[in-house]
Amino acid sequence: MTVYSALCNSLFDRPKTWLVTGTAGFIGSNLLEHLLKLNQRVVGLDNFATGHQRNLDKVQSLVTPGQWAQFTFIEGDIRNLEDCQKACAGVDYVLHQAALGSVPRSLNDPITTNAVNISGFLNMLVAARDAGVKSFTYAASSSTYGDHPALPKVEESIGKPLSPYAVTKYVNELYAEVFARSYGFKAIGLRYFNVFGKRQDPEGAYAAVVPKWTAAMVRGDDVFINGDGDTSRDFCFIENAVQANLLAATADDSAQNEVYNVAVGDRTTLNDLFSALKNALAENGVVYEKAPVYRDFRAGDVRHSQADIGKAAGKLGYAPEFRIPEGIAKAMPWYLEN
Ligand code: NAD
Repeated sequence: MTVYSALCNSLFDRPKTWLVTGTAGFIGSNLLEHLLKLNQRVVGLDNFATGHQRNLDKVQSLVTPGQWAQFTFIEGDIRNLEDCQKACAGVDYVLHQAALGSVPRSLNDPITTNAVNISGFLNMLVAARDAGVKSFTYAASSSTYGDHPALPKVEESIGKPLSPYAVTKYVNELYAEVFARSYGFKAIGLRYFNVFGKRQDPEGAYAAVVPKWTAAMVRGDDVFINGDGDTSRDFCFIENAVQANLLAATADDSAQNEVYNVAVGDRTTLNDLFSALKNALAENGVVYEKAPVYRDFRAGDVRHSQADIGKAAGKLGYAPEFRIPEGIAKAMPWYLEN
């Protein structure tokens, strides 16, 4: 039995109250689904900036009426301290996911990204501290590695940030560290590396590469690769990220107040991803015949990314269950339906 399956078994008969911010978004709604299926009580906080009611409706259709009754949703904004305080009341574990993602969005509008990702984050820390929560697990980012050339990425060696988004995610880590030191607060930052899976929004200028390309292929549109296609990422299937959150939230004190890479430890180039998505679609009866269209490198992007997941494995018991091909195969039916 893995550490994670033992944790799930033990939670099942021992309901706790979890706050998932950004619960109408991609990662947040997947956390919600898993927690409700584990018979947990969940409070959700979201302002629908990039999340959708349809994600909550979908989760409702996937759990029992009794499990859904354990969910309380608060429509609110993390830039408003009172909304954060309301959401944190009576909560055991916070899984803070709400933020404005996307490097290009942050380059176009650094002020809003800063307000949500830094001021909103600080509001959440203050509210969670004052509510006396057991732990605070938050979405950090691999963008924090910035221009550091080493591969694979180890948590202790970071470079200079390459975008306003990366700055905000690094500031989150600094604030969490200071709260730990100053107030005896327990926080864990999970540096996600390109998470993908069901309910990740394929639409809009700031869509992530996996849903965006899959949607383009299904429609027969052009797929654009920024740069030469050798840019690489450590793509992480959503279920692995869910596992990391639950392990982090319930980790003992020796594992708290740290940051951890959350990925699988593989490096996939954009050219390889293009082929993998094309092949997975073909297996589902969708044939895409166009070649990718190469265009300029995108400002702010890290060239190569691959995680060393040894720290999360050693201190949290993290053991990703899905590598890229399994993740793509599991996600494909959802992409095709949606
Ligand atoms: P998402 O956009 O699907 O979810 C973010 C959610 O936060 C949305 O539902 C949005 O409406 C909500 N939100 C935004 N601003 C808010 C505000 N002011 N108040 C309340 N709610 C607000 O994105 P996601 O991919 O699920 O990302 C979740 C977290 O993970 C984010 O913090 C993101 O920066 C981080 N992250 C994601 C990835 C990835 O690959 N998806 C990688 C690194 C880090």
